[in-house]
Amino acid sequence: MFNSLSERLQDTFDKLRGKGKLTEADINVAMREIRMALLEADVNFRVVKDFVASCKEKCLTAEVLDSLTPAQNVVRIVLDQLTELLGTTESKLVLAQNRTPNVIMLVGLQGSGKTTAAAKLAYLLKGQGHSPLLAACDTHRPAAADQLATLGSEIGVPVFRGDGKDAVKVASASIREAVDHLNDIVIVDTAGRLQIDEEMMQEAVAIKQAVKPDQILMVVDAMTGQDIVNVVQTFAERVDFDGVIMSKLDGDARGGGALSVRAVTGKPIKFVSMGEKPDSLEVFHPDRMAKRILG
Ligand code: GDP
Repeated sequence: MFNSLSERLQDTFDKLRGKGKLTEADINVAMREIRMALLEADVNFRVVKDFVASCKEKCLTAEVLDSLTPAQNVVRIVLDQLTELLGTTESKLVLAQNRTPNVIMLVGLQGSGKTTAAAKLAYLLKGQGHSPLLAACDTHRPAAADQLATLGSEIGVPVFRGDGKDAVKVASASIREAVDHLNDIVIVDTAGRLQIDEEMMQEAVAIKQAVKPDQILMVVDAMTGQDIVNVVQTFAERVDFDGVIMSKLDGDARGGGALSVRAVTGKPIKFVSMGEKPDSLEVFHPDRMAKRILG
């Protein structure tokens, strides 16, 4: 992920470093290259426009141009802006202190990595001393509950399937199950479709009303390109969510969707998933990701 973007940005920075003193024209050329690199990485057009404008404004100051190491300052500015684009600081999963069980609901399109993310999150929370319960509320795809059951048994986390028919009832019953079995967190896996549809949205809203989640996390496939913007905006409007789990960051997509999602929704990326294994979910650090992209 981001390989081609990284190479292009490094090229631009190398050219700047080779120049010593920088002029306004040099900055303009560099900014044009950065704009092209981001657009080719499939970053949303408006996000690119704002990003380049703010980098340019900060670079075109006497403080930068007249400094002894202008190229280094430009790299630092782009790094800071990229970190800001990705959310600046780590955004923790907020668990309510006064509610047991806490409820975390996962939403997203089918294939985005929701079911595996539910298990990964359960694994991570179990490792922190919690006692999670996974609720299989994707009742439209029977294989989804089987998949969750398999993953649950691999990581030693119980999976509640209820009657396997009515997603809202399964979700509500999973809370009672958690109370009975002293599980302090319920992770609700919900149904997705290949594309947004009204029935999916209504069901997600109904589950939300029934279980009143403390956190709703949207699972977003980092391999998705520009389409990601419409998908996350629709989920934000209809269900609303508190943060994003960015999945499949280990893939070789151009990464533009991953770079756009925070700016487009204002919602933080809380976790990234870098593989299929249960331990491949990590807390997201914007600064580390920005450094990785800039190489
Ligand atoms: P769901 O339909 O949203 O529940 O998606 P799944 O959890 O079933 O995931 C769809 C596919 O993506 C499965 O084959 C997963 O193993 C795979 N997958 C999920 N997350 C990742 C990830 O972070 N990296 C990779 N490489 N594959 C993933």
